[in-house]
Amino acid sequence: MSIRLKTDKEIEVLREGGRHLAELLKLLSDKAVPGVSSADLDKVAIEFIKGKGDKPAFLGYKGKYDKEAYPAVICVSVNDEVVHGEPTRSPRIFKEGDIVGIDAGIIHAGLYTDSAVTVPIGKIKKDVAKLLKVTRKALEIGIEAAKIGNTTGDIGYAIEKYVKPFKFGIIRELAGHGVGYAVHEDPFVPNYGKEGGGVKLEPGLVIAIEPMLNLGSEKIYLAEDGHTYKTEDGQFSAHFEHTIAVTESGPKVLTSL
Ligand code: MG
Ligand code: MG
Repeated sequence: MSIRLKTDKEIEVLREGGRHLAELLKLLSDKAVPGVSSADLDKVAIEFIKGKGDKPAFLGYKGKYDKEAYPAVICVSVNDEVVHGEPTRSPRIFKEGDIVGIDAGIIHAGLYTDSAVTVPIGKIKKDVAKLLKVTRKALEIGIEAAKIGNTTGDIGYAIEKYVKPFKFGIIRELAGHGVGYAVHEDPFVPNYGKEGGGVKLEPGLVIAIEPMLNLGSEKIYLAEDGHTYKTEDGQFSAHFEHTIAVTESGPKVLTSL
């Protein structure tokens, strides 16, 4: 594992980029209404990113286990799709009662930020609304734990402890990560963990924290398209993510407005 800490100057640049990313996610969330498709959002995203003079971070991304480079600008994951839904090849048209996970990454002045939200389409079921609320809160709780003296395990522990009473499935295979010079860097930041486990949080550490919770079982599988993760039991899944910096004055959210 090699963790590369960021300088104060780099964190400032990441904050600028993170603000653009927050504006993008706000715009896409507002556009996500019945009748609009995942491909429509992808188009809006590329125009916005280019308009800011930034670059999309996911387009062309190829992870260690990916069969091909990622062909779209953002990830759009609907209902039982957990994350990494590819928006353009078989576009999903949103309908009332859906939930849509929108995950985006941008490169601003050479530095990467990563953030995601899950938005309801019109009126959603009560248990699904609860899932969204708890996942969003789990992110907040994870961020609060990202302070000097704590470890990545403390972040996961805090999230897991908060989520447990709700009995939502916490995904094990996918996790938060270091970010900044690339989309995915060390360390691994799971949404479960042991107090004091993992690696120490130091000033200059920039990580994406991203709880992914399922209404039902924690079990997921990789769909045939090679990108999209889905819940095994077909129940809905939610995802919220921020890029944050660990600083002397506490965790600093970089991807907010
Ligand atoms: Mg992301
Ligand atoms: Mg991420």
